[in-house]
Amino acid sequence: MRRGPDPGTLDHALAQQALAAGAEIRFNETVRHPDRGDVVAWGPRRAYILAVGYLFTTDLADGTFAVLDDRLAPQGYGYLLVHRGRATLATCLFSDFHREAQYLERVLDFFQRRLGFTMREPRRFGGFRYIGVNPPVPGDHLFFAGEAAGVQDALWGFGIRYAIRSGSLAAAFNASGDRREYIRQWEEKIGRPLRASFVNRLVFQAGGALGYRLLLRWIAAGRSPGDRLRRLYAPAWWKSAMFPLAHRAFGREERPVLAGCICSWCAARAGEAVAGPA
Ligand SMILES: Cc1cc2nc3c(=O)[nH]c(=O)nc-3n(C[C@H](O)[C@H](O)[C@H](O)COP(=O)(O)OP(=O)(O)OC[C@H]3O[C@@H](n4cnc5c(N)ncnc54)[C@H](O)[C@@H]3O)c2cc1C
Repeated sequence: MRRGPDPGTLDHALAQQALAAGAEIRFNETVRHPDRGDVVAWGPRRAYILAVGYLFTTDLADGTFAVLDDRLAPQGYGYLLVHRGRATLATCLFSDFHREAQYLERVLDFFQRRLGFTMREPRRFGGFRYIGVNPPVPGDHLFFAGEAAGVQDALWGFGIRYAIRSGSLAAAFNASGDRREYIRQWEEKIGRPLRASFVNRLVFQAGGALGYRLLLRWIAAGRSPGDRLRRLYAPAWWKSAMFPLAHRAFGREERPVLAGCICSWCAARAGEAVAGPA
């Protein structure tokens, strides 16, 4: 799946659907004070994950590769996706944001040494992601959707499916309708898997390098990686029991904005009050 404004991307397809349904799209306008009843989907306001990478063209055959190694992506992952000559290579960091450039170069070096490719027309990209650390109570999210509501997988930071689910639930909400049904659906589609993802993250971080190795072996030993990942992501009673602990442990690291730092997090906050370098 591709993102962006071009035909054939998710964003373009959603825009076309919205226009066909009679919506008006206004670009380059900022909403400062949403009205009651609005669905607010303005994306992340804080950073828990930082992703930085390259988009490029290449002769490599189609493939999907990921690496778990704190020297390349602290508590996160590096990846390389190739589809019909277009490639995305990135590092996703859950810690140590200010050294994003160093981690990105290490991921690039890692994949180049193993797969031996050259990048053509590389374009750098970067961004940050937010995950709600307030307990995901449906009422709080009534008219907030996607990352504005913090609904994002806490294990690896996948938020597209949650953004679409929460957006469509919020848009379909009828204030005079059955609120309990809304909450039931929110629980099933968002609340339970989201809480399970916090526990996945706790276990993932606690496992460290040995845990990463065992996890990758377990995924590789399955019928298909998708099959194993579905099991990993599935809610379970023991995950519900562990959620309060996982939630307390999540996102405790301070993310100071440093004067003069050009990482994606500091750059996005430029202009706000900044702390001096440590
Ligand atoms: C580099 C990167 C890679 C990612 N890869 C994946 C992936 O592989 N799979 C996955 O599932 N997720 C991925 N994610 C996360 C995913 O992109 C997000 O979770 C998802 O796009 C969130 O959707 P959203 O609509 O809530 O917010 P966004 O996609 O951030 O959209 C918010 C929009 O609101 C606009 N906006 C902001 N403030 C205002 C305002 N005041 N008024 C009007 N408009 C405003 C912004 O300009 C933006 O266009 C990735 C994120 C990043 C940064």
